[in-house]
Amino acid sequence: MSDIEQKEINRAPQGEDSARCRENLEKAIAAVKEALPGMTLLEHEPMSAHCSFKIGGPVRALAVPEDVMSLARLCSLLKDNHIAPMMLGNGTNILFPDEGLDLLFIVSTEKLQKMFLLPDGALYAEAGVPLARLASFAQQNCLAGLEFASGIPGTVGGGTIMNAGAYGGELKDVIESVVCLYVPEQRLYELSNEQCAFAYRSSLFKRMGGCLILSVVFRLPAGDGDAIAAKMRELNERRRDKQPLDLPSAGSAFKRPEGYYAAALIDEVGLKGYTVGGAQVSEKHAGFVVNRGGATSHDVYDLLMHVRGAVYKEKGVQLEPEIIILPPDYKLEDFGPAVKGNVVTFTGAPEEASEET
Ligand SMILES: Cc1cc2nc3c(=O)[nH]c(=O)nc-3n(C[C@H](O)[C@H](O)[C@H](O)COP(=O)(O)OP(=O)(O)OC[C@H]3O[C@@H](n4cnc5c(N)ncnc54)[C@H](O)[C@@H]3O)c2cc1C
Repeated sequence: MSDIEQKEINRAPQGEDSARCRENLEKAIAAVKEALPGMTLLEHEPMSAHCSFKIGGPVRALAVPEDVMSLARLCSLLKDNHIAPMMLGNGTNILFPDEGLDLLFIVSTEKLQKMFLLPDGALYAEAGVPLARLASFAQQNCLAGLEFASGIPGTVGGGTIMNAGAYGGELKDVIESVVCLYVPEQRLYELSNEQCAFAYRSSLFKRMGGCLILSVVFRLPAGDGDAIAAKMRELNERRRDKQPLDLPSAGSAFKRPEGYYAAALIDEVGLKGYTVGGAQVSEKHAGFVVNRGGATSHDVYDLLMHVRGAVYKEKGVQLEPEIIILPPDYKLEDFGPAVKGNVVTFTGAPEEASEET
C-alpha cells in the first residue's frame, strides 16, 4: 500500500477520494466476513463503549481477533484492500469524535492475553495483557520493576507505544524487546529496547505509525514478593488519593512540559474545575480532564484549547496533549505552533525497524 493510499483512509478524505476509500473499506469488510467468519466483527460500533472517556460515535468496523495468527490474517486481508487498521488496547488514552469515524477499521487486542515466563526468566506478554495483570504476575513470580505500572489502566501494547510511566518508572526501563507487525510491508520485526527509541510518552512506534505491537518481552530483576506487593499497594493508594478515578477520563490530559508540572500550571491560572459542557478540569487533580456526564468530544476539545491558551498566555508555556485526539488531523489552533506528536498516523518509513524475525 502506498503512503498516499494510507493517508486517504485515515485523514478524512473528501469527494471522490472519500468514495474510493469507502468502497475499499466495504470490500475489506466483506472479505473479512467471508475469510474469517468466526471473528468478532462489530459494525457501526459506538466508541464510547470502548474507551475510558466514555465519549465517541460509531466506527465503521471493530474486529476482535482471537489470537496473533488471526490478527495477522486479518491485517493481510485489510492490506489487500488498501486499508490500514488502527489498533486499540483499553482505550484509556484516546478521545474519539462524537461524529464517529466511518472510514476507520479498528482492531482490538482484547483477546491477545497470553503471558508466561521464558526459560531464561524473562517475562513474555501479548499486547492485550492489562498492565495491572502484568504487574501482578511479575509480583507473584518475585520479579521487581513493574510496581509503577500496576495502577495504569492500559495494556502492554498501548503502554509500549506510549512508553507509559508513573512514579519515576517507565516501561522503557523494563522492556527487553518488542515484536510488531509493520503493516505497509506486512512483515514481522523484533526490535531491541534501543531500536524502539523510547522517549517521554513516545516511541518509534508512535512516531512512525503503521506498527502493530503483538508482544513484548520484559527483563525484570529478582525481588522480594512481599516488598513488591507493598510497593504496589502504596503507589495505588497514592493514585487513589490524588486522581479522580471515580469519573471517566483518559488520564493526564497534557504531557509534562520541561521544567514544569502541567497540573500546577493549570491550577495557577485558576482553571481547576473549569467546565465546558460535560467536560471539566478535575477539581481533584488539575492535570486530568473528566467527563462529568454527557461530555461530547467537542466539550473536551474546547476545554483543552482553552486551558492550553490560558497557560500559554499567562505562563508562556505550551502544553502538548498527552491524550490522542482523533481524527488525526484535528488542528490545535491557538497560541503557538501546531502541536505535533499527539496524532495517530499509519504511515512511516520502515528503515528504522531493521531486525527481521
Ligand atoms: C485513570 C487513568 C490513569 C492513567 N494513568 C497513567 C499513568 O500513570 N501513566 C501513563 O503513562 N498513562 C496513564 N494513563 C493513560 C493510559 O492508560 C496509558 O497511556 C496507556 O498506556 C494506554 O494504553 P491502552 O491500552 O489503553 O491504549 P489505547 O488508549 O487503546 O491506545 C493508545 C495508543 O496506542 C495505540 N495502540 C494500542 N495498542 C496498540 C498495539 N498493540 N499496537 C500498536 N498500537 C497500539 C492506539 O492506536 C493509540 O494510538 C492513565 C489513564 C487513565 C484513564
